[in-house]
Amino acid sequence: MGRYLYNGVKMNSPIYQELAATEEDIKSQYEELRKNQKALKISEERYRLAVEGANDALWDWDFINNKFFISDKWKEEMGYISNSNLSIIGRITRMLHCDDVNLAMDALKEYLKGNKPYYMCEFRMKYKEDGYRWVLSRGKLLRDEKGVAIRMAGSLSDITDRKIYEEKIKKMAYFDRLTNLPNFHYFQENMNTKIEKNKEYFNFALLLIDIDNFRNINDTLGHKFGDKVLKEVSNRLKKFLDVDDNIYRTGEDEFLLVKSCIGNKKNASDFAESILEYFRNCIVVDKHEVYTNVSIGIGIYPQDGDDVFTLFKNVDSAMYSAKEHGKNRYEFFDEDIYNRILQRSYLEINLRRAVEKNEFILYYQPQMNLKTESIIGVEALIRWSHPKEGLIPPGNFIPLAESTGLILPMGKWVLKNACLQNKFWQKSGYKPIRIAVNVSALQLQQNDFINTVREVLEYTDMDPKFLEIEITESTLMSSIESNVEKLIMLKKMGIKISLDDFGTGYSSLSYLKKLPIDTLKIDKSFIDDIKNSVVDDGITGEIIQLAHKMKIDVIAEGVEKYEQVKFLKTQECDKIQGYVLSRPVPSNEVEKYLKFI
Ligand code: C2E
Ligand code: CA
Ligand code: CA
Repeated sequence: MGRYLYNGVKMNSPIYQELAATEEDIKSQYEELRKNQKALKISEERYRLAVEGANDALWDWDFINNKFFISDKWKEEMGYISNSNLSIIGRITRMLHCDDVNLAMDALKEYLKGNKPYYMCEFRMKYKEDGYRWVLSRGKLLRDEKGVAIRMAGSLSDITDRKIYEEKIKKMAYFDRLTNLPNFHYFQENMNTKIEKNKEYFNFALLLIDIDNFRNINDTLGHKFGDKVLKEVSNRLKKFLDVDDNIYRTGEDEFLLVKSCIGNKKNASDFAESILEYFRNCIVVDKHEVYTNVSIGIGIYPQDGDDVFTLFKNVDSAMYSAKEHGKNRYEFFDEDIYNRILQRSYLEINLRRAVEKNEFILYYQPQMNLKTESIIGVEALIRWSHPKEGLIPPGNFIPLAESTGLILPMGKWVLKNACLQNKFWQKSGYKPIRIAVNVSALQLQQNDFINTVREVLEYTDMDPKFLEIEITESTLMSSIESNVEKLIMLKKMGIKISLDDFGTGYSSLSYLKKLPIDTLKIDKSFIDDIKNSVVDDGITGEIIQLAHKMKIDVIAEGVEKYEQVKFLKTQECDKIQGYVLSRPVPSNEVEKYLKFI
């Protein structure tokens, strides 16, 4: 008889066996479930710990059940109101800084459109009662089988520290430390964005304001003082700003002011005039009164440039032109001026190259003693031997060389080569003559000018008594006291000093006796009128007599006609120089004259 286990089912019957197998199956399934539950519990535990312990917050938005979850810790700190009448989106946006709501929403739209692989945005969120924290929010969408979005979840990370650091870096890159004003980079980026946003109805004036002669303040009163002046200037300029205006410090002594909604040119010029007027009052810094006049270049957007770069370039040329026209004034951008400046800068590049490559030669113009009728000297006159344009006269490049400082290397070159040439003539056996060299104000102002002259004389081994330095009245007046001191030193070295272009500048005979000069060069304009005008005949004669009383020699320059020579002889003028004798000529042609003395 068989055994019965399940309600009379025999143990060895097929049904029994099937039942036993099912039980085994259930058991193992139960075991599996138990394991899973345990694992789930552990995983839930881990998740909970992670959520609680994490610095980051997790959020989960269930679209189907319209529920929003955010980690408790953040919920409290960020001020999320769970039970309110607001929609979820309303509740979320209430937590954001009002300036960042659009940013966050735009990023969300972009993601939902499928343009981004995940949602990511940085914005400010309310923190506790009255503060804000920067957060980075990331998230991803979950869709059902049909592709309908059912849920979105993600994290929020506090990135405030990083933002503060970034802000610091940005400040360093975009702000000037001295005045705290934004700099040129900032101007470029800020204006570019503004223009892009409001291209159609944007209208503003851009003013480039540059302090006149700021270098003098720095040089004479020191950089620390100069810094204080700059701060004061920036404070003054800030007073001209309305809500929508901006100011930037774009160079050492250069500021850019954006005046919004300027309307027309007239308003812009009134505005510039008011700035000029204000700056005509002195600034008091450390009990010193300093005058900081400014020069202003103005351009109006969009007519003077419809992108930031062009507008700035044009305003820069306008400012340059204000400086050229005497400073302490404003100029509007002008196409012609711009082209002229362009030409000038082209010439400047060329001139720099010429200095590097030594593209200069010297011509010499003989000077004759009227009594002995012999050649007693030559004036060295520079020419630019341009590879394409041939010989360029000094009038076309000396002013530029002076304003760019290129006159310094050029002047040294002239001095050295003139002395070398003179020494060469002497060594060749010609009777020694004096060589006159023109010296510009900037050269004379250099602290090492005397040394330079001394070095050249040593190098060329020329006796100083054969060197004559020609300076104009205006050169001398540029810094009279120190210049006179230097001239006295040169004289002590045995060098002769000649006052060039006499009569065209201050023309004051009274100060002549205070100057350490040997020769007075009467300007060509006086000589031109000899015999035509009784007045000039008289003046020339008087100058000669007076100079002689002061033991100063007189040379007449620009003498072209024989009658002029005759007249000058009667007036006992000592020397002449001019076409009547010879034009300036290359060195080998001078030798023709030297043979006969
Ligand atoms: P400057 O020193 O007054 O030189 C005299 C100028 O008058 C020269 O012009 C000369 O060629 C010109 N000249 C001489 N006699 C006559 C004449 O009878 N009739 C006419 N119409 N002109 C005459 P250049 O060589 O063109 O030089 C012009 C100016 O350039 C010079 O005027 C001087 O101020 C400047 N310069 C020339 N070389 C140098 C230089 O090496 N250094 C500096 N700093 N300036 C220089
Ligand atoms: Ca001269
Ligand atoms: Ca002259």
